[in-house]
Amino acid sequence: MNTDIDLILNKAALEHFLTEKEILRLLELKDFSALTCAADSVRQKYLGDEVHLRALIEFSNYCGQNCVYCGLRRDNRVLERYRIEPDEIIELAKKAKSYGYKTIVLQSGEDRYYSVEKLVKIISEIKKSDMALTLRIGEKTYEEYKAFRDAGADRYLLRIETTDEELYAKYDPGMSLSNRKQCLENIKKLGYETGSGIIVGLPGQTLQSIAKDILYLKSIPVDMAGIGPFIYNPDTPVYCGKTQNLEFKTRLKEFEKNNFETSLKVMAVLRLLMPDINIPATTAMETLNPQGRIIALQSGANVVMPNATEGERRKQYAIYPGKICISDTPAKCSFCITNKIKSIGRTVSQHQGFHKKAINKEYI
Ligand code: SAH
Repeated sequence: MNTDIDLILNKAALEHFLTEKEILRLLELKDFSALTCAADSVRQKYLGDEVHLRALIEFSNYCGQNCVYCGLRRDNRVLERYRIEPDEIIELAKKAKSYGYKTIVLQSGEDRYYSVEKLVKIISEIKKSDMALTLRIGEKTYEEYKAFRDAGADRYLLRIETTDEELYAKYDPGMSLSNRKQCLENIKKLGYETGSGIIVGLPGQTLQSIAKDILYLKSIPVDMAGIGPFIYNPDTPVYCGKTQNLEFKTRLKEFEKNNFETSLKVMAVLRLLMPDINIPATTAMETLNPQGRIIALQSGANVVMPNATEGERRKQYAIYPGKICISDTPAKCSFCITNKIKSIGRTVSQHQGFHKKAINKEYI
């Protein structure tokens, strides 16, 4: 019997607080089924069986930033770039509504083509059709965030990626951790539902640093946390020189399996510590495991973000290789994920799925 683990899990499930050391113990588990089980019960208790679907529109893969691990990085010359014009973005959002989605997520690289004026127009048009709207378009000034909020945007998603200063400097050159934290503070101050999250498994990232990330997300506190396993992209410098290395190739599968499992553990710990927030089963998880999103939904997650982008662009929004559903249509994705959700006894929510804060004495 793992009695100390049982004690930590009981404490987390009741008090929703753990020390960094206790979090680390959970992240180090080899057999972590008790952890994901505990997270699944907490999810059930606080949020029930509803899964919220968010229609994802990836409207531009141009990016002014140069994150070392990301396929959209400025210096990646191999990637064919695209932009969707504002009118077409609005059309895609309307179509997504016709498939039954209640939330639109607009996602892109950091593309200055979309001026504040263009974005405000897109946001206010989409808001006319009574849908919740999330933006995931990177770092902006306070004034820009304010303009989008005034135009009606409800939520903003900006992953902190890592709170480790050294890793951040190494992987996000030209950016600064303190500015990213400031952006999240501004987003929160403006009354957006605030989403953040991390990437899990960057070479050099330790479990201890991930434990600190988890406590940071709780300290904000976020309304939503997205956890994505790192996947090697051959068109980025993280991969550089390794393509010819046979040993690396054989280790790659094991490495990515490990990132998948660590991401599940991180998600489960987050659910225990923040029982009522929204946690998506991310696309990157399904890329590494054909059942990834279902496994995530049974380990604490309560949100899925199906792709509502059309045609070639699905493939071209290539953050990492092997992205799922690149040849599908938005209609097929909606149908397919709905069936998967029903197959595990869960239901698709008919609401916009705002963060419902628990009014529960034992969770403060
Ligand atoms: N520009 C926006 C959104 C871009 S989407 C923003 O900054 O929020 C980019 C997201 O994909 C990042 O937040 C990162 O966490 C994830 N990502 C990038 N490269 C990745 C990789 N190789 N493997 C897994 N996830 C990756």
